Amino acid sequence: MDYKRLAEMLFPDNKLTVEEIEKKYSKRDLPEGAYVTRFSPSPTGWMHLGGFFQALIDYNIAKRSGGVFYLIIEDTDKKREVAGAAAVIMGILNDYGLMPDEYQLKGGVTVGEYGPYYQSERVEIYKAYAKKLVSEGKAFPCFCRKTEGLDDVKEKREKKFSVGINEEKDPCRNLTMEQIEENLKNGKQFAVRLKSNGDGTGKISFVDGAKGSVEIQENSSDAILLKADGLPTYHFAHPIDDSLMGTTVVVRGEEWLPSYPLHHEIFTALNLPEPKYIHSPLIYKLNESGNKNKISKRKHPEADMRFFEREGYDKRAVVEYLMNLINSNFEIWRKNNPTADINEFEFDGFNITANTPVFDIVKLNDVSKEIISRYSAEECYAEFVKWARENSLENLDYVEKDKEYITKVFNIDREKPKPRKDIYKWSMVFDLFDYMFGKPKSFEIDENERKNFEEVLKNYKKWLNLASKDVWFENIKKMSAELGYATDNKEFKANPEKFKGNVAKVCEFIRIAITGHKNSPDLYEIMTLLGEKETLERLSDLV
Ligand code: GLU
Repeated sequence: MDYKRLAEMLFPDNKLTVEEIEKKYSKRDLPEGAYVTRFSPSPTGWMHLGGFFQALIDYNIAKRSGGVFYLIIEDTDKKREVAGAAAVIMGILNDYGLMPDEYQLKGGVTVGEYGPYYQSERVEIYKAYAKKLVSEGKAFPCFCRKTEGLDDVKEKREKKFSVGINEEKDPCRNLTMEQIEENLKNGKQFAVRLKSNGDGTGKISFVDGAKGSVEIQENSSDAILLKADGLPTYHFAHPIDDSLMGTTVVVRGEEWLPSYPLHHEIFTALNLPEPKYIHSPLIYKLNESGNKNKISKRKHPEADMRFFEREGYDKRAVVEYLMNLINSNFEIWRKNNPTADINEFEFDGFNITANTPVFDIVKLNDVSKEIISRYSAEECYAEFVKWARENSLENLDYVEKDKEYITKVFNIDREKPKPRKDIYKWSMVFDLFDYMFGKPKSFEIDENERKNFEEVLKNYKKWLNLASKDVWFENIKKMSAELGYATDNKEFKANPEKFKGNVAKVCEFIRIAITGHKNSPDLYEIMTLLGEKETLERLSDLV
């Protein structure tokens, strides 16, 4: 068969040659050992936690090696595309400090020399490579109904290929030139498929950055490269884009591992260099019965990065928590270096933890508490307002107006050698400090103690003195003694029956009256912040 003629017949209007393209995409001039990585999401309007996890690995591999991290949008499936989705992704990367070096904003700026950074704008490139493969007898047109347009049958078929299921060789690979000419004359649409050399018996092996040595069955499927609508499949776009754009490490979800043999065959057919791969593990979550499930947007709100935004999680905490899941030695390093910059940690993108990462929100909360505990009151307020501006509009007015008071509230038990560690997300602040933003609505008082509780409150109105913490506490002690409570703990322990309780009990009663809770941060600080008038009012409301 005259493959050159066939290529011209299939692509008469595509004059751009592979040689011209490759000349345009020069080799990147980077120092020895610098890696080039990319994040390649589909523009679906949100970002999956798993995608963010990969982007975090990408970013760290590139930036720590002095290389380049770029963003390319995989927008060849026009049905799934959501307007403005790329901006959402850029926004998240930027917020979390993973700003790409190269990117393109729709209808606007392009930063970088290796664009376009939208696959849909690279169609001429894919066609040139498809034409070349056909001209070399390595790919062929397929006119089957299932490859026409974007119908479901075809999509299902493509999905099958992407999980590496070997199908029979396609019957269209044996069409004669006359049959092809006839089909074209009749205006039949065609897809371009790979003419696989594999027979499904051979094995190939490679070293994966997350899985180690992998041995896997070679490809034997005549996978679709270019769909009938002229757009490439992921399998075809990946080798072309990553080679031209100089990617040296591809980080992608492990669901792509079975497609590696197909990609390997396409790289070989195209005579393009293959990058290193890191097939990153999917993130799981434990369900109530203790079984692991893949984290999914349908079942788990945390699968969508917007969850962390809405809840007001500290961004550094999210990054640090995920670092734990990437490199299991991170946790120990952080314990030994509690205040060190995260960049001092020796990140190893080629040694991703072998265990299945299981997302544990309690652990994230702990990491977040630790980080927030180190913030000054001013920093807390700044982060809180930032969160409220986008996520708590109903409270924004108040939050903005009362900067001074709210900052003081944040400062209760903060900026001390052992600061409080209870805030882990900004959305919890109003609940956690409900008593600072209004009178308590309920009181954690045991009914059998109510009589003593009321007696203490009634008396305390006379003893309230906020002049200094010492005076304040001295007064509580004096009153306690008068009412029959022990002021010396040893004495109380020796003869508890002689007392109504000890001074701690009295403080607990006052605390409940003021805050509603048995436990709270420093009571004196709370009372001073509320002021004498408000404190007295709260006591009087109860007795
Ligand atoms: N859009 C693909 C995905 O999200 C990209 C895979 C890749 O990074 O190569 O799975």
